[in-house]
Amino acid sequence: MKRVVLLGPPGSGKGTQAERLARKLGVPAISTGEMLRGAAAAGTPLGKRVEGIMLQGHLVDDQTMADVVRERLEQDDARQGFLLDGYPRTMPQAETLEAILDAQGTRLEAVVLIEVPEPVLVERALSRRRPDDTDEVIRERLSVYGKDTEPVAGYYRGRGLLQAVDGDQPIDRVTAALLAALGK
Ligand code: ADP
Repeated sequence: MKRVVLLGPPGSGKGTQAERLARKLGVPAISTGEMLRGAAAAGTPLGKRVEGIMLQGHLVDDQTMADVVRERLEQDDARQGFLLDGYPRTMPQAETLEAILDAQGTRLEAVVLIEVPEPVLVERALSRRRPDDTDEVIRERLSVYGKDTEPVAGYYRGRGLLQAVDGDQPIDRVTAALLAALGK
């Protein structure tokens, strides 16, 4: 499977697993969080616009994200497949992704969800200490996840695309479980 979405709450280890899975699948890992942090660090107009939003733990608006993701998925390397990390995070984003892939004559093949209990997530995020990892912001990001992103998981589950994996185990075990879920 070469067109895959990786879902999971903040602190679930998505970034780490995305890199590993992408390498195994031979597709680029596309992390919208990293793209936005890169834009912010480079001080681009996009970066300046989203920096404050990210620091508060809020979501960047769906239209901005649609532009970012469409442009990335149209690049050559992503035409053969991709592992999306951090997108879609809302139902409108899930619809946008479908429209982008439709226009390319392809479709999503699998969605894998990394599940981790909330207290573990808070503990992990606090020890990571990115600038958007303060206690208050973590709770905000978790609440945004529950409100906006969990419905996306439910939507994919309903379509029979979702496979959930236990993320509260050693990194290698999580990778193995994700690969098994993807039939590797
Ligand atoms: P997390 O640790 O929550 O997985 P990410 O690195 O994926 O964090 O994203 C960091 C921040 O970037 C988010 O809190 C949000 O502000 C912004 N962001 C990333 N992806 C999206 C998206 N698909 N829609 C809206 N905002 C996003």
